[in-house]
Amino acid sequence: MEKNETIECCPECGNPLISTFIIFSAEWFCFKCKWAGGIFDSITKNWTENRQIKYNQLKKDFDNAVKGYVPPGCKYENCDKCNRNELKTDKYHLWHLTKIEKTAHEKARKLLFFQHNKIVRN
Ligand SMILES: [Zn+2]
Ligand SMILES: [Zn+2]
Repeated sequence: MEKNETIECCPECGNPLISTFIIFSAEWFCFKCKWAGGIFDSITKNWTENRQIKYNQLKKDFDNAVKGYVPPGCKYENCDKCNRNELKTDKYHLWHLTKIEKTAHEKARKLLFFQHNKIVRN
């Protein structure tokens, strides 16, 4: 029971938040209204089955939406270009994305950093 007593929710729309480390300085992300905030900005609500179901759905949608995101400075184990270390111009995976990968990456990046930019400005 202890693990599921509370659930962190969005201060804007009240939906369960996704915990993320992808977005620098925004540990919480609301996939519903795209709110993002720091670790102390969330609202703690009592755990209910309904909230858990909502969370599971939002987490699934979030994971789907950001799965194309390629973090900077990352090498992919199963990528030939990443493994050819001698090529300085192709050092990281982000530097040699295919057209499809690039489209998915840009889409995810826009979603993830839209709200983050707002936080920085505040
Ligand atoms: Zn929200
Ligand atoms: Zn690569």
